[in-house]
Amino acid sequence: MSTLREPAAELLAWYDRHGRELPWRVGPAARAAGQRPDPYRVWLSEVMLQQTTVAAVRDHFHRFTTLWPTVEALAAADDARVMGEWAGLGYYARARNLLKCARVVAEEHGGRFPGTLDALRKLPGIGPYTAAAIAAIAFDRAETVVDGNVERVMARLFDIRTPLPAAKPELTARAAELTPQARPGCYAQAVMDLGATICTPRRPACGICPWRDGCLGRLAGSAPDLPAKTPKKAKPVRHGIAYLARRVDGAWLLERRPEKGLLGGMLGWPGSDWVEEAPQPAPPIRAEWRDAGAEVRHTFTHFHLRLALRTALVPMDRAPARGIFLPQEEFRPSDLPTVMRKAFDLARGG
Ligand code: SF4
Repeated sequence: MSTLREPAAELLAWYDRHGRELPWRVGPAARAAGQRPDPYRVWLSEVMLQQTTVAAVRDHFHRFTTLWPTVEALAAADDARVMGEWAGLGYYARARNLLKCARVVAEEHGGRFPGTLDALRKLPGIGPYTAAAIAAIAFDRAETVVDGNVERVMARLFDIRTPLPAAKPELTARAAELTPQARPGCYAQAVMDLGATICTPRRPACGICPWRDGCLGRLAGSAPDLPAKTPKKAKPVRHGIAYLARRVDGAWLLERRPEKGLLGGMLGWPGSDWVEEAPQPAPPIRAEWRDAGAEVRHTFTHFHLRLALRTALVPMDRAPARGIFLPQEEFRPSDLPTVMRKAFDLARGG
């Protein structure tokens, strides 16, 4: 057992001095002065931060809160505009759920996020982690917030060597034991900050860690190797062909992907299915297709993609079998999800 005497108090004292300043955060001094976090901003940041780094989220968060400063404003937004602004953050199902959730909060909760774990869990796109994070950070409830950072810190602090994912229940139980009744919102953010800035994946900076004296992983020398992980299976490689057609007036042939499935609801280049064998050609319009001589490489959660590119210039009077021509002035490459953006950049450079 760790020999920390008052782990929460020790960590909070560190957070008060060293916590990160983040655009969606109400820092400890402001909080002590009575300022409350806006649940909308907490929710938005937590959804954006899932699987994405703070650095990648900052600009998007600023854009979203400038364009849509309240949950009601976001609920009333145009779907395509929101999907476009989300481009680059990946995991596009999150953006669709973001809109659904905003609309439920606006229509069924009078524009106010509910403050309990159970009520938050019922909202679209809010899983156990996000619900606990919002309840703790926005409503100061003593909920246990466990993400990858927290798992790593707990595994090290208690020298838990069971590999993930089997270790999850034990790590969650340890995290729950440490969660204080006083200032749980600050505490949740403090553990996240510790994991992000001190107890980092490869080289924990134990020398400046507020928990160093009681940390069993540090004392045992096992900390840098924790948490242990069950080896992942190698991801399969899928292949596809994307077709980038431009009309002589500068319009681009694009299609909106089906709502369900990978990159659902996002704009993209028409193309073949993505398969593990050779892909079947599927040109969306009759044209003299040119091999761009370059291949997009992109990794999704469950597979690597190799996307061959074909380009063509087509006359005004030719109708596509798939997709629509988007006039040049309406086409914003930044609206494309990353893989489609890569295809655009490569085809233009090629
Ligand atoms: S002492 Fe080191 S390993 Fe332990 S919690 Fe702090 S940074 Fe992590």
